[in-house]
Amino acid sequence: MLKNYITNAIVLVAFISIIYQIFRSTGLNPSLAVRYRLLSGSIWGLMGVTLIIFGIDLPNNLVVDFRNLAIFLSAISGGWASAILSAIIISVFRLLYFGINPPSIATGITIIILVVVFCIIAGLKIKNRMKWLISIGISEIISSIAFITIIDDVNFRINIILSYCISLSIMSFILYYYVIYIEGLMESFRSYMQEANRDFLTGLSNVRHFDKVYNSIFDNTKFRYEVISLLYIDIDYFKNVNDTYGHKEGDIVLKKVSEILTETCRNTDIVSRNGGEEFSVILGDCPPQIAMEIAERIRKTVEATPIELSNQTKISITLSIGVASYPNPVRDFNMLMERADMALYKAKHTGRNKVVFSS
Ligand code: GH3
Ligand code: MG
Ligand code: MG
Repeated sequence: MLKNYITNAIVLVAFISIIYQIFRSTGLNPSLAVRYRLLSGSIWGLMGVTLIIFGIDLPNNLVVDFRNLAIFLSAISGGWASAILSAIIISVFRLLYFGINPPSIATGITIIILVVVFCIIAGLKIKNRMKWLISIGISEIISSIAFITIIDDVNFRINIILSYCISLSIMSFILYYYVIYIEGLMESFRSYMQEANRDFLTGLSNVRHFDKVYNSIFDNTKFRYEVISLLYIDIDYFKNVNDTYGHKEGDIVLKKVSEILTETCRNTDIVSRNGGEEFSVILGDCPPQIAMEIAERIRKTVEATPIELSNQTKISITLSIGVASYPNPVRDFNMLMERADMALYKAKHTGRNKVVFSS
């Protein structure tokens, strides 16, 4: 019995680890897209099936297992879609595994009630700890009622109900803390991944992320474009801002320019701060003419936006922008960065505050 119990604990911990690992970049929650919730629902269903296979044999041909936990975890992490799918997987397997008999009817009804109860509780605006406590409590009550309907012997009945409720409570207690632990771990993973790709001052992509996207443009399905334009942007006379108002005020200017860049570009564009007061934008599926329009819009917006420093002084700044487009006129993609840089150089040396296209 104890051996079976430990096996069940290991199955639960293994499945929870795997599922959180699979969803490490998105996290697991009911607001994920339906396809993700159906994926998690099927894995939780598979966990329920495994728990049934490792069910604990009791006298009188009775078997108990922890499939309720699979449905509960499915409901709390993926809502209705996920919980219903895992319940279907578990019920179908149970029927195939044990065949149709009186306990299977009680089990079927129990599962339907549990899905409804768990999903309602999962949707309540209460602390997670309370959701676990109420759900496991109700699960124990419902299972006890099911035991009462299928076990005639009173002593045996009390025995089973007590040992089931105690073992489920202990198991849930362990899992609750394990889920918190692994959620924390995945949360840190996500924030480290974010930080690794973000510029700490402006929140834009950093040069490392820019390089990653740029170098994977042709082999990454996410960024598979046929026409690409690249903007190289540099603030004019930025050193003067630092020299006149100080480095901290210069940082305010960098943040404001970043804000304007983010607002002006689409959210699929990769806007980066490539260092100092230099920025870049990778515009996917963007032909030269549109790229020029976007660059001009950025330039005009920055020119027309007074930037308020911390002492309420308002200053105006300007940008120089170099634009290059692939495959026309830059036929070699490897030359795109160099050509955008050359166009920027030309903008600087022909008066600044202008957009130059690398033709
Ligand atoms: P140009 O019009 O030719 O681009 O002139 P510029 O003054 O903008 O260019 P320059 O390269 O001479 O100066 C860039 C300045 O940017 C120098 C440096 O102190 C400043 N800088 C670089 N990184 C940061 C930063 O993170 N914060 C602040 N406030 N300033 C920075
Ligand atoms: Mg500059
Ligand atoms: Mg510069």
